[in-house]
Amino acid sequence: MIDFLIKFFYREKKVTNNKFSEHFTLKEVIKSETAVRKGIDNTPNDKVVSQLKAICQNIMDPIRKHYGKPIRVTSGYRCPTLNKSIGGSSRSQHCALNNDAAIDFEFYDMDMDLEEVFKWITEESKLPFDQCIAEFLPHGWIHISYKKIGENRQKITRAKKVNGKTTYEQLGFSKNKV
Ligand SMILES: [Zn+2]
Repeated sequence: MIDFLIKFFYREKKVTNNKFSEHFTLKEVIKSETAVRKGIDNTPNDKVVSQLKAICQNIMDPIRKHYGKPIRVTSGYRCPTLNKSIGGSSRSQHCALNNDAAIDFEFYDMDMDLEEVFKWITEESKLPFDQCIAEFLPHGWIHISYKKIGENRQKITRAKKVNGKTTYEQLGFSKNKV
C-alpha cells in the first residue's frame, strides 16, 4: 500500500511538474483579459496545447535565452469567439487552426529596443518562425508564429498605421532560412 502511494505521489508530482517549456507556462499563453471580461472560455484542446508548446520551445525559449530577460506575452491563443470579439482576422494564426500558433510579445523591461529584437529574429537568429510581424514598432509589439507541422515560411512583415488604418508591408523572407 505504501509502495503504491509513493508511486502514485511521484507520478502525480511528475505530471504537475511537467513544464510546458523552459521559460513559459500554458497559463500565460492562453490568458486574455478580454476573455475574462466577456466570460469567454479560452481553454484550448490538446492539439492546440501541443502547438502552443511547440512555439514556446522552438521560438520563445530561444529568444528569452538570447536576451536573458523575461518576456511578457501580450496575446497568445485566441479561440475563434475571442478572436472575433477583439476584431482579429478570421485567418489569424492566434486561433491555431492550421497546426500553428502565434504569440504577441514585448519585454517586462520597457527599455528593450523591440526594433533591434525584430532585426535579430529576422536577420540573425536562424529561428524557424513562420511569420514575424513588427506591429506598430517602436511602441508596439512583435508578433511571431510557428507551425508545428508544415513549412515555416520565415515571412517578414511590418504593420503600420497610415491615416488611422492598419497597413501591412511585406518585407520578404528571411535570408537565414535553414
Ligand atoms: Zn499577433
